[in-house]
Amino acid sequence: MPEGDTVWLTARRLNTALADRALSRADLRVPALATTDLTGMTVRAVVSRGKHLLTRLDSGLTLRSHLRMDGSWRIVRTGRPWSGGPAYAVRAVLGNPEWECVGYRVHDLAVVPTDREAELVGHLGPDLLGPDWDAGEAVRRLLLDPAREIGQALLDQRTLAGIGNMYKAELLFLRGVHPFTPTGTVGDLPGLVDLAHRMLSRNKDAPEQSTTGSNRRGENFWVYLRTGRPCLRCGTAIVSADQGVPPYQRPAFWCPTCQPVAEVAARPSS
Ligand SMILES: [Zn+2]
Repeated sequence: MPEGDTVWLTARRLNTALADRALSRADLRVPALATTDLTGMTVRAVVSRGKHLLTRLDSGLTLRSHLRMDGSWRIVRTGRPWSGGPAYAVRAVLGNPEWECVGYRVHDLAVVPTDREAELVGHLGPDLLGPDWDAGEAVRRLLLDPAREIGQALLDQRTLAGIGNMYKAELLFLRGVHPFTPTGTVGDLPGLVDLAHRMLSRNKDAPEQSTTGSNRRGENFWVYLRTGRPCLRCGTAIVSADQGVPPYQRPAFWCPTCQPVAEVAARPSS
């Protein structure tokens, strides 16, 4: 699943290719938009909001797309061959005489008035990479459901927007928090939220994601996708387990030594 920083970087690249130029090509290959023609409109900006990509046009319309698990936007010189997958996977093409932006398996395509974007993305919590990032509000939303496991709460984009499964795993490792800890018993939520903000901000320009500072294969993450391998800090074998309610469960990864199960002080004794 693309992380918030991947979406942010995609938005920035699309913005570089498209902003301040008129669309000479605009194919939207989904039935609901078959009659929508954005050709000739000038792109004002492409921005990310959480994991949504918003292409704002001078006509007062916004095209929303979402990468979900498998989507991507490829940017190629106009006229060059596309290489992101089979033609049937292309759901959108936005182009000008210099660049073509090809949306492979992009989801949730919709065109709305720009001043009604909030109806599409307004349910999101504070955006870790947004101009209006609000750490206090993120902590407040985390604590709305104190019994919920922290690993699940961090993935809920209504709580705070931008964290995917990789950052969830890595953040909890660095804070020494077991992923199944009830959110209300996590010792320092503001510290966790602050680290999330710093980590995504630091990584947002990096082509290769790393949380350890190393780009060596197998050492660029502390625990993510490292089941059975030794913890880079203490040598204990990393473990993993599904977390969440099917079919929405995602694997959690943790070091049993660095992230011990928290003692729950107020557990009912019934
Ligand atoms: Zn460890």
